[in-house]
Amino acid sequence: MQNKATANYGDGRFQPVIEKCEGCGRIVEQEGVQYCKSYLYPSAKWKLGLCNFATHAKPEINVVTVRINPLKAAKRASKRK
Ligand code: SF4
Repeated sequence: MQNKATANYGDGRFQPVIEKCEGCGRIVEQEGVQYCKSYLYPSAKWKLGLCNFATHAKPEINVVTVRINPLKAAKRASKRK
């Protein structure tokens, strides 16, 4: 008998993980198929870029220092009014 606390990933609601999910800590395996325990459609999660639930991939954060000329910024701000 199946434990009620365990989701049945093979019931058709869950899509198998995709290649990009490999290494993610949220992957669970059931009957030889790997599923994501956080998301039903892993491929949809990667369509727009990185999966935000992924434990193995983090977006690179680029800190860009933008130099602002205070005089020009003040002019721009005053023009907007
Ligand atoms: S959390 Fe994201 S990367 Fe991890 S298995 Fe699920 S869909 Fe794949």
